[in-house]
Amino acid sequence: METIGVLALQGSFAEHMQALRKIAGINPILVKTADELARVDRLIIPGGESTTIGKLLNTTGLSINLCKRILSGMPVWGTCAGLILLAKKIDDEQPHLAVMDICVKRNAYGSQLASFECQKLIPEISNTPINMVFIRAPQIISVSGTTKILAEYEGKIIAAQQNRMLATAFHPELTADLSVHNYFLRL
Ligand code: GLN
Repeated sequence: METIGVLALQGSFAEHMQALRKIAGINPILVKTADELARVDRLIIPGGESTTIGKLLNTTGLSINLCKRILSGMPVWGTCAGLILLAKKIDDEQPHLAVMDICVKRNAYGSQLASFECQKLIPEISNTPINMVFIRAPQIISVSGTTKILAEYEGKIIAAQQNRMLATAFHPELTADLSVHNYFLRL
């Protein structure tokens, strides 16, 4: 049985765990230490505050191990703050993993008050529209290398994939729809 990690330094890791527990045949665990990271076959980096998660990745020493695992092919999915942490380029200077060929703008839709929901079809992921929740979400300004755009909303890139790295600006763990979780488990 595959072990799926959810990085649990800060942010919406509990909601991802709840979603994963609804999917049969996997073993979801929280990841806070290098030992826990070593046990997982895949990892989700949740939404939250990317500056805080980035600092904690450095102070715990997890950053180096995590980069090595990702670069050696472990599937990883960043939601919102997690997407920011994966990006090679961010509009702000802050600690991050810098593994995925995307350029990202933080808080691109404005403050918490500008949070919104929409429905959008992502044919690679599901044959029905996906409910998307955006909370102080980033935008992917551009992609390069082998990165593929999976979805755009109002002309802005909101989901992308590079090999086994998946990035979504929205929060599937805050909805009942498990299609993005299931897609990630198939990567
Ligand atoms: N704005 C947050 C950041 O920059 C991300 C928000 C979220 O994950 N919902 O880290």
